[in-house]
Amino acid sequence: MPTVPTGRTARKPFFRPTLDHAEGVSRACLSVLQGKRSFLYWLSLEPSDWGTAFRLEKFRFQEGGDREETEYHVLLSADGNHCTCKGHVAHGHCKHVRAVLELQATGQLYPIPTSPERKSA
Ligand SMILES: [Zn+2]
Repeated sequence: MPTVPTGRTARKPFFRPTLDHAEGVSRACLSVLQGKRSFLYWLSLEPSDWGTAFRLEKFRFQEGGDREETEYHVLLSADGNHCTCKGHVAHGHCKHVRAVLELQATGQLYPIPTSPERKSA
């Protein structure tokens, strides 16, 4: 396993994804606690021919982060895991993929809704 030299003591920042299933709501709410920050997304499944695909739609009121992006697409596949965010493109990993993987590993990931339609009601 490669180690990343940081010059600091190797202390991993706190990281905890949780998924809330609100009854009557067609989307699951994903919250990710990372260090002292928290991130909120609507999580849904997307149809994919390549693996298991997810859409993470940012909560609109959320401050910070990349304001140009409103949603990210995560793909878990046999060839590797991918995310459309800039962090993953640049570094090959990100909190979105990590959150989905940790939820999956702890059995929290399913059931989540599939590709929600935007309804006005
Ligand atoms: Zn990402």
